[in-house]
Amino acid sequence: MEVSRVTSQPNETIAAGAWLRVDTLAEFLRCARAGVLASERTWDDEPETPQSNLDFLPAYDLAAIERELNAGMNRLWRYSALALCAPMWTALLYVAGVHFLLVLLAAWFTALPAWLVFRQLCAVVTLALRRRQATRAGKCEPDETSTAFQPVNWWGLLKAGFDSVKYDELRDEALRLEGRPWRVLRRGSLRIPVVKARRLDAEGMLPIECIAKVAAFGRLLTVCDGGTVAYGVVLVGNAYDGVTVPFTAKSEQWIIDCLEQTREKLDLFGDPSVMPAPPPAAACAFCPLGSPPVPLSVGGQQTRHTSSPADGPLPRSRCGARFGWTPPHRRARALSDA
Ligand code: SF4
Repeated sequence: MEVSRVTSQPNETIAAGAWLRVDTLAEFLRCARAGVLASERTWDDEPETPQSNLDFLPAYDLAAIERELNAGMNRLWRYSALALCAPMWTALLYVAGVHFLLVLLAAWFTALPAWLVFRQLCAVVTLALRRRQATRAGKCEPDETSTAFQPVNWWGLLKAGFDSVKYDELRDEALRLEGRPWRVLRRGSLRIPVVKARRLDAEGMLPIECIAKVAAFGRLLTVCDGGTVAYGVVLVGNAYDGVTVPFTAKSEQWIIDCLEQTREKLDLFGDPSVMPAPPPAAACAFCPLGSPPVPLSVGGQQTRHTSSPADGPLPRSRCGARFGWTPPHRRARALSDA
């Protein structure tokens, strides 16, 4: 189910400023440099949510998984039949005394159906495992009044009667805040924003950007959709497990304060001569904006490549190119040690 743009009416006086996206705000809270990069990004063409391996095949919709599984099984049988016939044709050509080059060519073509069977088999097994996880999950009913983080499971929430809905865009005219949650779980008047985290932070805690997104989307859903938001859900990594993050009046006020401060600082950093200070080195180690581009492989040889002649000896990350430095990302360290 999809819900198109929902806009609130301005019903309160909050200092007006430039429109800010939830993702920009969340990135700024994670790292000021990441926030500046996010504010300069073209959001129309790029996904706002980290893509995971689960995204290549249907992963969060049981009906879609079952549809794709049935289609995948049909393809698997067809490719298997082809893979069985191809060697027989090759053998027949050999016995019939056809030129050995043609036999070699036919033998090479037998590899193609085998490769297709392997690919399809992997997809079918993946989908079957996902369906198993979905059907075996128990009902998950977090306490709406709790202010603690509660473990949840995606399939368990759907079993509890929530509908998963994709919203197109939410816009709060009063705060001039806009964004699109990854999914919203809806049941009655209850609205649960769902966001995804790549990983937990170095201390095993939820990253601050995810907590900020829950608060911001909670606010947007409350004012734009008129729903009740008791908590949000953060799904971590390529998994269906996650935790609830309570949405309270306190967290709503916190995100409004953060929004105002972020807007002021982004105005300041709009001047290229004013540069935000880098965060502690540990924050850059796994940051996707600090990772140098993956080396190209030419003729089996890995090459370093740079985006411009001024880039220097190491390939430049997005953060490195924007702020003229080499972030201490673990890949950059590995490349400089090599
Ligand atoms: S690489 Fe470091 S400084 Fe750059 S955006 Fe990421 S965390 Fe911030």
